[in-house]
Amino acid sequence: MDSFIQRLSGVCAHVVADKPRLKVYETDGLTAKKMLPACVALPETVAEVQAVMALCYAEGVPVVARGAGTGLSGGAMPHPDGVLLSLAKFNRVLEVDVDNRIARVEPGVTNLGISDAVRNLDLYYAPDPSSQIACTIGGNIAENSGGVHCLKYGLTVNNVRALKMISPEGELYEVGASGLDSPGFDLLALLHGSEGMLGIVVEVTVLLLPKPETISVILAGFDSVQQAGETVANILSEGLLPAGLEMMDKLAIEAAEDFVHAGYPRDAEALLLCELDGSNEDVAAQLSRLHKILEEGGARDVQVATDETRRALLWQGRKAAFPAVGRIAPDYYCMDGTIPKRELASVLAEITALSKRYGLGVANVFHAGDGNLHPLILFDSNDPKQLESAEQFGADILTLCIERGGTITGEHGVGVEKLDQMCIQFSAIELARFHSIKACFDSTGILNPGKAVPTLNRCAEFGAMHVHRGQLKHPELERF
Ligand SMILES: Cc1cc2nc3c(=O)[nH]c(=O)nc-3n(C[C@H](O)[C@H](O)[C@H](O)COP(=O)(O)OP(=O)(O)OC[C@H]3O[C@@H](n4cnc5c(N)ncnc54)[C@H](O)[C@@H]3O)c2cc1C
Repeated sequence: MDSFIQRLSGVCAHVVADKPRLKVYETDGLTAKKMLPACVALPETVAEVQAVMALCYAEGVPVVARGAGTGLSGGAMPHPDGVLLSLAKFNRVLEVDVDNRIARVEPGVTNLGISDAVRNLDLYYAPDPSSQIACTIGGNIAENSGGVHCLKYGLTVNNVRALKMISPEGELYEVGASGLDSPGFDLLALLHGSEGMLGIVVEVTVLLLPKPETISVILAGFDSVQQAGETVANILSEGLLPAGLEMMDKLAIEAAEDFVHAGYPRDAEALLLCELDGSNEDVAAQLSRLHKILEEGGARDVQVATDETRRALLWQGRKAAFPAVGRIAPDYYCMDGTIPKRELASVLAEITALSKRYGLGVANVFHAGDGNLHPLILFDSNDPKQLESAEQFGADILTLCIERGGTITGEHGVGVEKLDQMCIQFSAIELARFHSIKACFDSTGILNPGKAVPTLNRCAEFGAMHVHRGQLKHPELERF
């Protein structure tokens, strides 16, 4: 490795290889999984990224891309014999094209940094993960990240027009176009959510939106999680399309209120935060329909915030809910799964039952309008038994999501965390398709190996490979 690192330093000016500095990179937001990389490369130019990739390809060295390391499924966890490729130095907004409402940015620009750069033009970039002050647009693409405003404005994939990519061999290529559609297969969509396994993003063209004329944020408290869940379904089935529709349960409300003092009703069992945006007339009309639905759903403590400071405070409680929950337990394990919206109330009741069975607390804070759950399982990692229980509890929640017609990830990706659940969600033939796609982009498998798509062997060992009419798929694989 020493001689490889020397050669790497010859093509990339910034390489870190001393252990104390490598420690900084040993984990992402999934801190239960840790690994030191052999070294970290911090290229500054596209040519340097190309040279790093060409060298790694020639020598068969694994490469794991890293943005800000806020990912929650271990996607940026390093490979022990590989290069961690940090895109941190790619942090410039290259061009803002107001006429076409697009911007060209480097992958290490933070999500919020894009909106900040166009704020004075009354434009913004819509997808807004709660981690937006830190996470990068490159990481957002690799995870196809969502956020509060994705209910109305879509995920990252719906807000990106084009990408410049580096292949494992070190070649530069482009996908997408500045317009709405481009000929050929939709590689742009394929690369979204590909978790750093198909190529390295080195430039992104994002769509910008004009700021709406009016924004209102409505807070509503409920005496039961069931009432709040049913109200979410009613808001959407009545044809309202809020910019955001979020829900928190009692534990999350109390933790957030203690942390940011947003004025949340501490005695409520659940609360909804609903953002309406558009023209003055449109928002006024939506607001009166929403009031009716809330009243019928048994809402109380209804507050409407229109001025920016009050709106920001109401959202701050929700956006700071993860760190707020971090203050009430030594550790928490953040799950991410989706369910059909009508299932919200009953799935939350089952999560409460699981919480009792495992003896671990759980706080629920989530994108209710998308049916995207984020149960935060509270535990103490100093107790290995609690860590094991938390992981099993999390696995049960994901299985429950699949049973109810949902998925094992809404926005945080699979990484190393949900490999086993991929075996439950997908059939062997579907997983084989994923492997074929991976091989098309990365024939020698050096990009982020071992992440996101489980091998069929692993699924067989896990005992979750689909068996149809007693016909065992891949009988040649050992079962344990
Ligand atoms: C407190 C908190 C709140 C969060 N809230 C949300 C939320 O509301 N919505 C949401 O979707 N997520 C959320 N996340 C998860 C996380 O912030 C997102 O997944 C984010 O997109 C990760 O970006 P990053 O720059 O940190 O990427 P990293 O964690 O560094 O990497 C994530 C993945 O992207 C790959 N990658 C990174 N850069 C590149 C590149 N240039 N080219 C190719 N591959 C690349 C990595 O290999 C890895 O697989 C939250 C995380 C935290 C800690």
